[in-house]
Amino acid sequence: MLYTSTRNHEVKISAAEAITRGISEDGGLFVPVSIPAIDRAFLESLQNKDYIERAVSVLRLFLEDFSEEELRRYAQGAYGGGKFSGSVPAPVVSADEHLNILELWHGPTCAFKDMALQILPYLLTGSAKKINNHNKIIILVATSGDTGKAALEGFRDVEGTGILVFYPVDGVSPMQKLQMTTQKGDNVGVCAIRGNFDDAQSGVKAIFTDPAIKEKLLKNGYVFSSANSINWGRLVPQIVYYFSAYADMVSQKKVAMGDPINIVVPTGNFGNILAAYYAKRMGLPVNKLICASNANNVLTEFIETGFYDRNRKFYTTISPSMDILISSNLERLLFMLSDGDDSVIRSLYASLAENGTFRVSDAVAAKVKELFAAGYCDDQATKETIARLFREKGYLCDTHTAVAVHVYESYLQKTGDQTPAVIASTASPYKFSASVLDALTDGSIRSEDEFSMVHELEEKTKVPAPEQLRSLRGQTPRFTDVCDKTEMSEKVYQMLGLA
Ligand SMILES: *Cc1c(COP(=O)(O)O)cnc(C)c1O
Repeated sequence: MLYTSTRNHEVKISAAEAITRGISEDGGLFVPVSIPAIDRAFLESLQNKDYIERAVSVLRLFLEDFSEEELRRYAQGAYGGGKFSGSVPAPVVSADEHLNILELWHGPTCAFKDMALQILPYLLTGSAKKINNHNKIIILVATSGDTGKAALEGFRDVEGTGILVFYPVDGVSPMQKLQMTTQKGDNVGVCAIRGNFDDAQSGVKAIFTDPAIKEKLLKNGYVFSSANSINWGRLVPQIVYYFSAYADMVSQKKVAMGDPINIVVPTGNFGNILAAYYAKRMGLPVNKLICASNANNVLTEFIETGFYDRNRKFYTTISPSMDILISSNLERLLFMLSDGDDSVIRSLYASLAENGTFRVSDAVAAKVKELFAAGYCDDQATKETIARLFREKGYLCDTHTAVAVHVYESYLQKTGDQTPAVIASTASPYKFSASVLDALTDGSIRSEDEFSMVHELEEKTKVPAPEQLRSLRGQTPRFTDVCDKTEMSEKVYQMLGLA
């Protein structure tokens, strides 16, 4: 199976090359030229498999350059060996009869990013070998909080790689910041930027596509790659858990084999929900994909109107991993819905770069509306949802998951759609203790200290905090640099010793 660029149809490369390179030189994203189809027998076969074997079954359909044995070794390294707490990496739990929650945060950094970033280092180093790349791979990451830590943890001390993470200085939770600034490992670097996530992401994309920087790195034996969801190797492992969730829901008798489900995803960069769309295109029975946003509701408007407009107020919310106005992976969706017409994508993204807006054709807008439902909620509604869910169902969720629950409940009220649904839960509530505690106590938090809040939340809910977060208490930050968004390339040189 070959991969092409959303902005240049003449690009035709292998999966290994797409994963090693991360992003196309034309600024486009790599996408598979065709989408593999599965049948009912495939779905049935997943029933009796564990997560590792489910991963092998799905990944091999896209990653033909890898043998089944290789993929099995990677999946075992990523999801086996006690890296994920609990008996399965991505369990579907029922908060009540209708609320099926796919918990994606039982990995080492307590966010769903681990589902992909635990396996990406294997895919990336394996890919580099296959295409005879002997340069050291430098992973450059822009993070809204969770990707940074998950990537650092995935790549730390992985031979032949180095990793540099940029995060918005005021755009992450105290726990997320501490997780990153205390990161261990000899091949890691972390720097805050004065700006928001979009600034960080644009800066990283600009560095990736700057020929002068690329040449300087190459001279010194380095090449860049990406661990953001612009990298195909990050996206493809995320398809797996939607298949896994379906198999689990069939086992739990939440849905009959072959019948459709709805999938609800709290969305920022559009990566997680795009993975669900790929699953649907492959043949997973999915009715609606429900895209949930916070006050940064650029995607809600786009899905409803076909008009994408990033020229709006940027809100810093209590669901910071969704504080995004440029949702990179939407480009992949639009490419597919435009039947792979790269000229359409070039003109849309030229318009976005120039005016901050684009409008898709009526035909594409109609397809988007048929596939997706969308909604958003503000911080107040997010908190009310956390409190109500805990009070009424005894289920404790984080702020991002609460956005999804709220949007799903509004969708239900509006449509009466009785299709069984699964909601992607993307982080442990303990990554956002202050906001969650605030929600449960009507704002009367007693402490200012992050770890006192963790403790208070445990006392209040009797839900134990993950050990990997608790153990950060008292650790001294290693990385305290802050730079301007214009200084990011300088920072990269410095961190690589090339300044
Ligand atoms: C990254 C993240 C999201 C958004 O996921 P996208 O793939 O960017 O849409 C949602 N919730 C949490 C907790 C995250 O870390």
